[in-house]
Amino acid sequence: MSKFHKDPIFFLQIFIFLSQFTNILSQTTDFPIINCFNNHKITNFTLHPNSTHISSIHYNHFLKFSLQNLRVAKDSTPKPTAIILPESKEQLANSVLCCRGLSLEIIIRCGGHSYEGISSIPRGNNPFVIIDMMNLNRVIVDLESESAWVEGGATLGELYSAIAAHSSYYGFPAGLGPTVGVSGHFSGGGIGVLGRKYGLSADNMLDVGLIDAEGRVMGRAEMGEEIFWALRGGGGGNFGVVYGWKVQLVHVPKGLLALVLNKAQFMSWPN
Ligand SMILES: Cc1cc2nc3c(=O)[nH]c(=O)nc-3n(C[C@H](O)[C@H](O)[C@H](O)COP(=O)(O)OP(=O)(O)OC[C@H]3O[C@@H](n4cnc5c(N)ncnc54)[C@H](O)[C@@H]3O)c2cc1C
Repeated sequence: MSKFHKDPIFFLQIFIFLSQFTNILSQTTDFPIINCFNNHKITNFTLHPNSTHISSIHYNHFLKFSLQNLRVAKDSTPKPTAIILPESKEQLANSVLCCRGLSLEIIIRCGGHSYEGISSIPRGNNPFVIIDMMNLNRVIVDLESESAWVEGGATLGELYSAIAAHSSYYGFPAGLGPTVGVSGHFSGGGIGVLGRKYGLSADNMLDVGLIDAEGRVMGRAEMGEEIFWALRGGGGGNFGVVYGWKVQLVHVPKGLLALVLNKAQFMSWPN
């Protein structure tokens, strides 16, 4: 036996070479997806561990990161071919186009609280991807127009914090759970403690940015009042991907009557 065969560095180099070679080989089977993502400038994604494009640590991390419904976190739950985490409106629109071109069913996830698990599991048995909106969570508050634009991946907590950072006078009528996503919540109506005074979240929506199956970004004017109406109560994931919502800020009353464990309590608001 030559002296190289006893050298640990030699074995290490062989091991690194082989693993790189296997990685390249396995990537070729994912070529259509990777090619499409590259062509569409989709940079932030992770593929199913079988593909080994990116390590399964990333995949499992992002699969569970925003998933709040543990009933669909089982091993037996169907797993997406890829998880895409768009970072801009363009990447979101391109994700829709790319997945459509590859006949991959698109599942959108915002806060991941869906009781039915429909932000995790596909409708049929076809290959699917999850578009996780978590990186699209910016909130732009404009006190002058008493409104805010909130991106479709923000949570209610992120929306409330952003408004509170600008003013303690304004708020927004929505639910209590800070980790609930704005998109799933607004798409279903949105009931909260300010509801008696201001109605549902859906009643306080001024505009919306919707991406349709052609990758077009449409506002309220382009989509028309019928779709705008359906988006506010018709359930998430039915009419396209919501990139962002323009919400009407409301005045938070100085005092709120809340019922806590059968006791009526009067809570004052720090104005
Ligand atoms: C702890 C908890 C507290 C709650 N509190 C309240 C409450 O106080 N008031 C109330 O009314 N409801 C409440 N709910 C219900 C909650 O509003 C719904 O479960 C809501 O659908 C969750 O939205 P999500 O974004 O977190 O869920 P997800 O599972 O991410 O999404 C739900 C649906 O919306 C779709 N979707 C997500 N993002 C988008 C997008 N950008 N564009 C298009 N479709 C999208 C998904 O595909 C899925 O179909 C609560 C739920 C929980 C678990």
